[in-house]
Amino acid sequence: MLVSPGHWTYYGAAHRFDVHGDAEEELRCDRTMSGLTEDELRAQALLGDRCAFIALIEILVDQDRTDDLRAMADGGDDRARRTLMELLANQGREAELRAEVAAGRGHAESLLTYLCGRGRLDDALDELIRWTDDHPEDAWWAHAQRLDMLLQGGRADEVEREAAAGDRVAIRLLRALGETLGRPVVAERPSPGP
Ligand SMILES: [Zn+2]
Repeated sequence: MLVSPGHWTYYGAAHRFDVHGDAEEELRCDRTMSGLTEDELRAQALLGDRCAFIALIEILVDQDRTDDLRAMADGGDDRARRTLMELLANQGREAELRAEVAAGRGHAESLLTYLCGRGRLDDALDELIRWTDDHPEDAWWAHAQRLDMLLQGGRADEVEREAAAGDRVAIRLLRALGETLGRPVVAERPSPGP
């Protein structure tokens, strides 16, 4: 199997291990899957066989068959959608990634992760504003995402300002980060009296 670097949710043998939780079982499964044709894998995957789905995804990713992944995704398979976005992100194909998001075929999250992963926080924030304009129903998600990106990107001061203004998401994120770090991110403010 050709191993592509980067983060994958479904691609890769590690996920088959997750299914079986046992190296021997995984090996047996791997052999079974290798003996199946693509059509057979597709049929099994449709019946809900996760291992067959993973084997099929590996074939499509290794052969760079983005059109086939997109067709599966358009047919309602969110795993194929996620894999397509990860393929584009992992290979640095930003224009195609943007095209998927702009066409409403992929969620902005993949693109934001891609941009933040390259230290392009401002580009990610711009993209998020664009996304929110097109998807007002996702405004709450976008708000939490923006604060999280600011925190991860070293701009905690901006999150602190919103927490001080009473933003619950900002307060929650700062508290969670404080627990992870084992110290408060900001000085505790006195709680309001009774
Ligand atoms: Zn299996």
